[in-house]
Amino acid sequence: MLRNFAGNTISLLVLLLIFIFSGCTKFKKDGQIKEPGVVLTFDDDRVDNWYKNLPLLDSAGVRATFYICKYNRFTLEQKNKLSIIQSHGHEIAYHTTNHYNMMDYVYKGKHTIEELMKNEVEDGLKLMNLDGFYPTTFAYPYGAHSGVYDKMLMRYFKSVRGLNGTSDYSKSLAPMEKNEVIYGLVIDKNGGRSDESILRLMNSASENKAYAVFTGHDINSSISLSVTKGRLLKIFNHAKDLGLKYYTVSEISQ
Ligand SMILES: [Zn+2]
Repeated sequence: MLRNFAGNTISLLVLLLIFIFSGCTKFKKDGQIKEPGVVLTFDDDRVDNWYKNLPLLDSAGVRATFYICKYNRFTLEQKNKLSIIQSHGHEIAYHTTNHYNMMDYVYKGKHTIEELMKNEVEDGLKLMNLDGFYPTTFAYPYGAHSGVYDKMLMRYFKSVRGLNGTSDYSKSLAPMEKNEVIYGLVIDKNGGRSDESILRLMNSASENKAYAVFTGHDINSSISLSVTKGRLLKIFNHAKDLGLKYYTVSEISQ
């Protein structure tokens, strides 16, 4: 009787250990163990430029998030390029149909919020869905937003991204928990941020166990809304030195 009891207890213990270890393996496989990192985001409809620069992103193992606007004007070739960008592990996210300032659209343009959501969010999302793109995160054009909009958009998305227009860099550090509203630090060459301040934010991400969220438009082009190759390489090297990982916005919005 006693032996049976001991045997059963041991069996139970073994089962429990198997359960715990298989649970841990699953935990690791799903990538749920969180480490500090860098979240690179790029906005608008610059798919030709991004496509051309895929090898640069690949060279550092970057997985970025591309917030798309004006999808209704994409050519078939551009849609194919976007699909290839997605297949390289990047996230395809949403940035409205016409890139209007959403606050002005309602408060100056005399539209209702419902009209805004239909015209600038739902219709464009449907078009993307038809082509196999399913954005789950959103960025505001010009970063213009309010708490009311944030709430409305949570019906469609896991998170919304504004811009950090302040001198408080820590606003662009997203914590390692479910993020709903995040603020990208603009790293375009006309964004008024120095390389040093960008690298410092990465140091903070590492020290504070957080994600540094950056926002750009073009990659390495002649327009002012463009991140230089030199700056990107500095970010890549610094991320490597600090052991920072790259995350998509969807991953930090879980
Ligand atoms: Zn934009």
